[in-house]
Amino acid sequence: MAIFEDLTTMGHEQVVFCHDKTTGLKAIIAIHDTTLGPALGGCRMWDYKSDEEALRDVLRLSRGMTYKNAVTGLNLGGGKSVIIGDPKKLKSEALFRTFGRFVDSLGGRYITAEDVNIRVSDIEQVGLETAYITGVSSRAGGSGDPSPVTAWGVFQGIKASVKYKLNKDALKGVSVAIQGAGAVGSHLVEYLVNEGAKVYVADIDPEKVKSNVKLYGAEAAQLHEIHKLDVDVFAPCALGGFLNDQTIPDIKAPIVAGAANNQLLDEIVHGAMLKERGILYAPDYVINAGGVINVYQELQGYDAEIAKKKASGIYDTLLAIYQQADDQQITTNAASNMIAEQRIQSVRAMKDLRNTMDNQTWVQTSRGRGR
Ligand code: NAD
Repeated sequence: MAIFEDLTTMGHEQVVFCHDKTTGLKAIIAIHDTTLGPALGGCRMWDYKSDEEALRDVLRLSRGMTYKNAVTGLNLGGGKSVIIGDPKKLKSEALFRTFGRFVDSLGGRYITAEDVNIRVSDIEQVGLETAYITGVSSRAGGSGDPSPVTAWGVFQGIKASVKYKLNKDALKGVSVAIQGAGAVGSHLVEYLVNEGAKVYVADIDPEKVKSNVKLYGAEAAQLHEIHKLDVDVFAPCALGGFLNDQTIPDIKAPIVAGAANNQLLDEIVHGAMLKERGILYAPDYVINAGGVINVYQELQGYDAEIAKKKASGIYDTLLAIYQQADDQQITTNAASNMIAEQRIQSVRAMKDLRNTMDNQTWVQTSRGRGR
């Protein structure tokens, strides 16, 4: 019964438990909300300690996708799936094809893609059994690596934040400290340097720092110093949970805007802490939405330029969020949640009204027939 309590509190529509003895598949698909369209969200494979832990994760992640897709303006609902087990031991074509049949049985209410421990090739195997996939390789006609478009969205988000907080239209002379020079971080370095920003990078992998210094003229910074630098923007592009009690007091930058998922260790406490310190925080799921914009574009027929153009919309989305947060004296993450909820509620009200009208028409027509 506790499961239904959770579903009621969190607002989920449907949760599907998938089991197959032959392949060892144990998966959960969570459809949080389909008001705006089919529920899109990646599939994660993880060796969860318990089924409860897997359930909690998929419920939390699928709800997050509803907010992300809604605030980004996509005609998509939120969903997510998890496959329980050690990816090194359990992965097989049969497992992914079986999972694909479960996805297919939902008739398009849920569309899957890659997430942690799931590669493009795994999703392509899922795709042998269902059309409801996205994020396949460019070789197979898909959108391929999403990181250039994600980084483009983050770049636009940094520009919006600099405009709002520092009233600057251009990034020339603006300084940015990037934590994590991986797939997204490196593209971001390039976009920023091309616009005349001064960029600092730190990464646990020294080779990645070296290549960004060499290729783009970024300046190397110490791992434990990167968030303390006296710069205009701190851009976390590595880990979740980095914004916490220990790190926030050390941040000198007036703006935090980066690609990493789940940056706030505690959404309420640390969102408020940043606000109290006068730091403008770009909600992570908004600024890093280029990835989902990219796979959404694949569903419409992929075009990299169109995907990039749509990711540029993150600029205006963030400005609206910042304005609403200031107007209502709330945190930017609360404002973003509010905008997402308002969009869903207004579409839901419109659909309810249409259903009521359809029902009335049906009643009148059948009465007419009865006469
Ligand atoms: P990545 O693995 O390519 O890059 C992450 C980088 O961070 C790596 O170079 C790694 O060495 C470095 N790193 C790890 N721990 C670190 C630490 N303590 N300090 C400094 N550097 C550290 O991943 P990515 O695809 O670039 O994604 C980066 C972040 O953005 C992740 O949080 C990811 O979930 C999020 N994100 C990525 C995309 C995408 O399109 N790839 C989309 C949305 C969100």
